[in-house]
Amino acid sequence: MKKISIVVPVYNEEENIEQFYKEICRVMDSQDYDFELIFIDDGSADDTRVFIAALEDRDCRVQGIVLARNFGHQAALTCGLDQADGDAVITMDGDLQHPPQLVPLLLQQWEGGADVVQTIRQTTEGVSWLKKFTSRVYYKILNRLSKVPVQPGGSDFRLMDRRVVMAFRRYREQARFIRGLIGAMGYHQTTLTFIAPQRFAGKSKFSLHKMIHFALDGI
Ligand code: UDP
Ligand code: MG
Repeated sequence: MKKISIVVPVYNEEENIEQFYKEICRVMDSQDYDFELIFIDDGSADDTRVFIAALEDRDCRVQGIVLARNFGHQAALTCGLDQADGDAVITMDGDLQHPPQLVPLLLQQWEGGADVVQTIRQTTEGVSWLKKFTSRVYYKILNRLSKVPVQPGGSDFRLMDRRVVMAFRRYREQARFIRGLIGAMGYHQTTLTFIAPQRFAGKSKFSLHKMIHFALDGI
């Protein structure tokens, strides 16, 4: 049976871990795959690691990696991609803004021959017109400057075939924008649009890095 790795970077998500686990299990248990669920605790200051450890005790498919400090979302994702050994790897957020119900559709496109299935957020519920406008301007400028096209609304909710993951591991840039790197890698890439709900619980982390890359990314 093919194995799927689900890689989830988490920072201060103690209120979301259990719900995320429940929802992803419900979805994966209805599919014909083995799976592993890898949480990367990115130096959380709350009890995230305790909740992950409790799941590890209960379910051998769950694996927790605890980073020594907060390295940021992209570094935590990289750590998970270095660890995952599934035939396909799905990266997604732990706050349920990347709906687990979409996972079967990603798997379907993979089975249909896609090496990368990139999701595109259509809208985030509750986003202001100003953020939508600045987002549009941001992508216009980014695409003028970049040789690699970067799609508006692209997110780090994606499926990658194992051979893409192996190739990706050779990229060792420190300041990384994974969406851009994957986009530049070639392979057979498809997209899937979705509407992001509000986070299930907790707050998004504010950071300057995020301000630059994502704060304008309001759609
Ligand atoms: N995250 C992380 N390290 C950080 C900040 C966030 O691993 O330094 C995780 C977070 O727990 C979530 C995902 O990355 O699972 C996306 O973060 P967030 O929800 O804050 O981003 P947004 O939805 O606002 O883009
Ligand atoms: Mg979020």
